[in-house]
Amino acid sequence: MEYKEAKEIVGKFKEAITKLEWDASSYYSNKERCQKLEDKNKELKTELDEAKRFKRYFNLLASASNVEICPQCDGAGGFIWDIGEQGGGGEECGFCAGAGIVDKVVS
Ligand SMILES: [Zn+2]
Repeated sequence: MEYKEAKEIVGKFKEAITKLEWDASSYYSNKERCQKLEDKNKELKTELDEAKRFKRYFNLLASASNVEICPQCDGAGGFIWDIGEQGGGGEECGFCAGAGIVDKVVS
């Protein structure tokens, strides 16, 4: 009877240890995932700061320039379309004749 009780206690103890091991390993994998997301977040913040800087340059140059980005093609100079298996095509922008920029309209 004493042996049976002891065996039962050891069994429960083992169960508890296993549970703790699972908790610990999931804690570590969560921690690792969290760290990766934090790193990614930092990376994106840096990229965003850089993008903001370029946007500022762009706005400065745009205001000092006598040309502006073509409003029809957004500076691309044309339009490209993809229609899946039938292939795709492209067309030069008629507004800027493919240049992507047009003379600024002084108002
Ligand atoms: Zn255009």
